[in-house]
Amino acid sequence: MNFSGKTALVTGGSRGIGRAVCLELAKGGANVALCYAGNASAAQETVSACQALGAKALAVRCNVAKSQEVSAFVETAISAFGSVHILVNNAGITRDGLLMTMKEDAFDAVVETNLKGAFLCMKAVARPMMRQRYGRIVNLSSVVGLRGNAGQVNYAASKAGVIGMTKSLAKELASRGVTVNAVAPGFIETDMTAAMPDAAKAATLASIPMGRLGAAEDVARTAAFLSSEEAAYITGQVLAVDGGMSM
Ligand code: NAP
Repeated sequence: MNFSGKTALVTGGSRGIGRAVCLELAKGGANVALCYAGNASAAQETVSACQALGAKALAVRCNVAKSQEVSAFVETAISAFGSVHILVNNAGITRDGLLMTMKEDAFDAVVETNLKGAFLCMKAVARPMMRQRYGRIVNLSSVVGLRGNAGQVNYAASKAGVIGMTKSLAKELASRGVTVNAVAPGFIETDMTAAMPDAAKAATLASIPMGRLGAAEDVARTAAFLSSEEAAYITGQVLAVDGGMSM
């Protein structure tokens, strides 16, 4: 896929799926601006890996749940690269627990990062994308947002919310050349899933028809496709990348 002349913003680009998305877009020639929560060395490593692919890249520390930080991130990217054509809302966290024991702050933190964070980033890029009559927004949802999962009411709420938000904004921006889609990964091998207890991992693996975990690159290639010129007539869709888990 060819992204030359395009600028992509990727939230949570320092690790896992976000890092793989940055590399996939850089491979196609995009300028990449990524943000991260606190892991500066990992963020810098992603920047170097993008540059090694011949792309321009920068990293900004930005909590996506804070509107001023999001504005600063988008302004930094636009002043460095001139515009923004692609936004991949990937930053996300989990704070798992059963409802009966889940603390209110665990609910708030997950919804603020995963749902409000995506909202703030979309709001920050919508105007420049509408003005230039071109944009691609890809939001990371989850199979958990489609099916629910015991121990993840906060995460499921945030990821189901991402789907509602994706479809609503797709309708708002369709006439302006801006597409908005979601990717719903299943069980992908990253730091996020490494923290799961072994028994939970085994149970999840048993529910995957393909019988294996996904790789960050599986999701990144899908996000890159939805960010491409080739996906021009696709909007408001949720594409599961889950080895058949959500069938
Ligand atoms: P990960 O390995 O834990 O990486 C999370 C990334 O998000 C890191 O770059 C982190 O930055 C960043 N981040 C976290 N909170 C942030 C905040 N408030 N502001 C800005 N950046 C923040 O996660 P992952 O597994 O790659 O998941 C990526 C996305 O895919 C998430 O939205 C997740 O919900 C979704 N997803 C993952 C799976 C899976 O199986 N892994 C399945 C379905 C959906 P630092 O490095 O600075 O901490």
